Amino acid sequence: MFKFYVALWASKLMMGFYYLRKKPKTDMPGLLACKICPDFLKIIAKPKLTIAVTGTNGKTTTSALVNDFLRSSGMTTSFNDWGANLMAGFATNLIRGVSLFNKPKVDCSVLEADELSMDTEMVKIKPDYILVTNICKDSLRRNGHPENIFNHIEHCFRLLGDKTTAVLNANDPISCELDRDGRRVFYSMTDARTYPLENISKDITVCPRCGGRIVYDYRQYRHIGRFKCERCDFRTPHAEYPAEFVDLDSRTMMINGHEYPLISDTIFNAFNVLSAVALLRELGYREPEISSFMATQKVTDIRESSVEYNGIEYFAYAAKSQNVSAASTVFEYMAKEPSDKDVVLLMDEVQDKNHPTETLSWLYETDYEFLNSPHIKKIIVGGHMYLNHKLRLLLAGVPEEKIVAVEEEADIPQYVDQYGITKVYVLYEIDYVTKAKNMRDSIVAYAKGGK
Ligand SMILES: [Zn+2]
Repeated sequence: MFKFYVALWASKLMMGFYYLRKKPKTDMPGLLACKICPDFLKIIAKPKLTIAVTGTNGKTTTSALVNDFLRSSGMTTSFNDWGANLMAGFATNLIRGVSLFNKPKVDCSVLEADELSMDTEMVKIKPDYILVTNICKDSLRRNGHPENIFNHIEHCFRLLGDKTTAVLNANDPISCELDRDGRRVFYSMTDARTYPLENISKDITVCPRCGGRIVYDYRQYRHIGRFKCERCDFRTPHAEYPAEFVDLDSRTMMINGHEYPLISDTIFNAFNVLSAVALLRELGYREPEISSFMATQKVTDIRESSVEYNGIEYFAYAAKSQNVSAASTVFEYMAKEPSDKDVVLLMDEVQDKNHPTETLSWLYETDYEFLNSPHIKKIIVGGHMYLNHKLRLLLAGVPEEKIVAVEEEADIPQYVDQYGITKVYVLYEIDYVTKAKNMRDSIVAYAKGGK
């Protein structure tokens, strides 16, 4: 226990230091605590309610919805809202929630959790609820195959047993098989008529129980939809929280006969709202309360961050390189978005610049084929991966005359069209917002003649 208190006090001191420097969004205090006391996550006191949110896509938005709702309803919470979703982030979150004498001082901790940390770190925290958004193809280098991700989360549920309730996506044939012997509740969604394109790389193709073919009544996106196995009784499970009606254009959804506003017009955020509603209803909150909270929430609209000049709208649009499902989704949006446009690809794995060689496989699982669209007039690729992107685009059937590949990103603006298009999208690595906005602004400046 001596080690634990040294760890707690040292990390509290460090946290105070970061607050004084106005940099509270760091996981350094948690890292220090776990270095001093390896059992820190196990020993630190937990509030009376702990909630973990994990899954490939959507966990940041969903955990923020859950946390902000609880706060708005009068609960005190601790939350790792600065993107630190591993051991050090969990520790920092929990340190915020206890006194110097390890007594809980918040009502609830909401933990956004990386999938691979579930059976090593989250299992020490023993959350009351684990919400899983989905399991999709992610970075091969970091996460391996979806089955590997599934195994880590499943292992966590097995270690936790009945202590934890699983809140699961009935439309995901991968994550709906989690925790089959445990306490679980499901959310599901009717056909939202999103008409998804076919992906070249499937997240799941055969039934996890018998190896039979999985067929769909409808899909919402990728492998998410109402499915069944052709050979056995594996099918979309019955859901306690079904969205019976979804209208993305008017941004509303009916769940068990109650109407909820959506936070954006995308199917992904409809699922994020749905999963948050399922969890909050499980916690006993009433529909009108949740519904009026959702009406106050809004995902930042990409149009708000666009710049217009001379009849062309310029966007900076986040994508995630290496995350096959997320990148493909953005490319699908580019294909379906009907205006004539240029696309600038800045997905050059800046963070991996020093060891980029082993990460190429994601390019070949991502649907570059979607970019072979008549609406896309030109694709400009920059950064140290530029030739890899060009090769992949050629293999996807994009005519060579539509591709401009430049190594120096500073050269990009001069190749962006100024006529014959109405939109320009700069697709950038999600962690590099400023860099992307600077690129968009230099493209606009070049168009204005200022260079
Ligand atoms: Zn089967």
